[in-house]
Amino acid sequence: MKYEAVIFDLFGTLVPALPYREYRLVLGRMASTLSIPVDDFNRIWFETSQERNTGVMLTIEANIEHVCKELGTRTGDDEIRRAMRIRIDFVTRIMQPRPDAIEVLSRLKSQGFKIGLISNCSADTPVIWQDTPFVPFFDVTIFSSSVGMKKPDPRIYSLAMGQLGVKPEDCLYVGDGASQELAGAARVGMNPVLIKVLDEDFDDALPEDAREEWDGPTVSSLTAVLSLVE
Ligand SMILES: [Mg+2]
Repeated sequence: MKYEAVIFDLFGTLVPALPYREYRLVLGRMASTLSIPVDDFNRIWFETSQERNTGVMLTIEANIEHVCKELGTRTGDDEIRRAMRIRIDFVTRIMQPRPDAIEVLSRLKSQGFKIGLISNCSADTPVIWQDTPFVPFFDVTIFSSSVGMKKPDPRIYSLAMGQLGVKPEDCLYVGDGASQELAGAARVGMNPVLIKVLDEDFDDALPEDAREEWDGPTVSSLTAVLSLVE
């Protein structure tokens, strides 16, 4: 086999990217549940993005409490729980496998590839992940919020390789190119490939998820990954 392991990104790769327009609506609903002006809520929410994705905010609830505290509002536990529910329902809805994802993962699995995940995400993602059909296919899952670092930090790729027991040159890394993740994978010696699914609205991504410039190997579906490894 050309590679020993295939390591996937999550959002925009195995599942669609977080749709920015819908995300803004969700933040608006969270703000109004908390009786906080939406602009104030959004400002602090986006300011805490780094903390959210590196596990400084241990839960979404803690993140919401932090926003309320920063703004000096006295918000009840009930409102905080309801705002959290809005967020979790949204992420759960997004975290649906792409139509070909499960088929591709079972093919890779049956061919003996080790399968890994490295995701830049907040603390709710690993919880929601546990209830997805992805779980049985993955040998290793690395969530930035659980390990306190995020792509493109070389250490997060090394952590995945260490747990998989593979060398970088034996890894294919598949991602949609947010957070400079492909350049990061290349720097540690992996073989990165960009997934750019047609029919998806690439402008509707979070600014923090802006795609990197990439002129390396590209696939237009998860199924096309199979032809790179078989
Ligand atoms: Mg992504």
